[in-house]
Amino acid sequence: KFDQNGATRSSSNTHVVFLPFPLQGHMKPMLKLAELLSHASNFHVSFINTEYVHQHLLPSIDIQAFYRRFPNFHFLSISDGLPVYHPRSGKHAFELLSSLRAVTKPELCKLLVSLSRETEEMRRQPPTCIIADGIMSCSAIEAAEEFGIPVFTFRTYSACCTWTCFNLLNLIEEGEVPFQGKDMDKLVTCIPGLENVVRRRDLHSVCRVKRADDPPLEFIISQTSAMRLASALILNTFDELERPILSQLSSIFPKIYTIGPLHGLSNNICINDDPSFALASRKSIMWKEDRHCITWLDSQPLESVLFVSFGSVVSLTHDQMLEFWHGLVNSEKPFLWVIRPNSITTENDERDDILMDLENRAKGKGLIVSWTPQEEILAHPAIGGFLTHSGWNSTLESIYEGVPMICWPLIADQQVNSRCVSDVWRIGFDMKDSCERSIIEKMVRDLMESTKREEVMKTMDKFAKLAKESVKEGGSSYCNFEKLIKDVRSLV
Ligand code: UDP
Repeated sequence: KFDQNGATRSSSNTHVVFLPFPLQGHMKPMLKLAELLSHASNFHVSFINTEYVHQHLLPSIDIQAFYRRFPNFHFLSISDGLPVYHPRSGKHAFELLSSLRAVTKPELCKLLVSLSRETEEMRRQPPTCIIADGIMSCSAIEAAEEFGIPVFTFRTYSACCTWTCFNLLNLIEEGEVPFQGKDMDKLVTCIPGLENVVRRRDLHSVCRVKRADDPPLEFIISQTSAMRLASALILNTFDELERPILSQLSSIFPKIYTIGPLHGLSNNICINDDPSFALASRKSIMWKEDRHCITWLDSQPLESVLFVSFGSVVSLTHDQMLEFWHGLVNSEKPFLWVIRPNSITTENDERDDILMDLENRAKGKGLIVSWTPQEEILAHPAIGGFLTHSGWNSTLESIYEGVPMICWPLIADQQVNSRCVSDVWRIGFDMKDSCERSIIEKMVRDLMESTKREEVMKTMDKFAKLAKESVKEGGSSYCNFEKLIKDVRSLV
């Protein structure tokens, strides 16, 4: 059992440095893990934001209260190498990746030197290990080697997507990748454990290119192969969900800590004694949540509302927005739809008009908001289904609350996740690569009211129960988290 009075304990010799990847979906599970470690052990935690994230995230946190609660936790920042005004998203996202690849190692080394020097006056030990996002592996491993400290790689994707990334070189050799739009329904039979599951269209989106030396594909391959040099792999998943693939991954990593769903573990360990406490991991880097949608949900019947959200990165064209709008309205089911201010791909001055038009059209049929407390929304009894882009956090949050999904993946790991949802776990439907109002309407009706819903709900309930059990005391993820603490402590 963890000591719930972490704040009053003396500090330890163990000092963990966290290196997240600076996007919402990567930051959130990394921050959850950092808060959990800080709370459940007496380790020092240094959490490294990019300056850009630091400037956006910190003002949204009551930092005094946070540091009182986590006295051995420190937020630090390094440059991401881009000017302040750079958008860091959409078609400019790859510039962030390559800039990070160029500057993170020297920035991290500088910081590790100062963390080692500062120790006397700060009463903290030099860094013991680095927990780095899987797609920051090259820089983390290179820097850690210079300081002689181990790296634990935390891949914030599913085990399934992580495993397909480890198979990318093999897929290129077999001539399966790249494929750019060719034979998209062809089964990819050379990934052990996934022989009958994954089609070309279900592979990571970096495979949808013409040439094997396409920079984003090369980036994922090189970061994934650097992960092999890490001492252990941490995953935000649970054994009962991905056991067969975890056993494939154990051929690369003798030590794998499956500690998800992390938001569930965090709810059980970090805030069970004070549910109102505002954890930093609950804050968005960019957007302020609209809480009045909870009041609106309170007035809706049980399991009647479809929650629609495409996460923090992807954007839709005006035409796609309209297809969704028609599909949702024609289904005659009430909806709660998150449209972030930057999620429509169009000129800035048109964006407001499009949004206003959609909001007017939605009146009486649903609610459009710019950002929600999603974990709370999915736990609300009025929610009956989730139309999602299949980001891994959203998928896990939906599984945890037993909410069945319609998947509309666009980029990265989303393609693999949606295939698992529909064809491995059978807890939803996959709508990938199509965006037509008639299909959307049919999928929404199937998910919300038909006998298909009953079938999906049977498996969904089973996985929701397993997810909740895994993060309770004695559950698989809970025990793996205890083991992680023990193993990190033994490094000193
Ligand atoms: N999220 C949220 N409010 C919203 C939409 C999303 O808090 O209105 C959170 C969601 O709970 C999830 C994260 O943003 O934890 C999105 O991560 P995910 O991996 O699903 O997708 P990404 O944003 O990385 O594409």
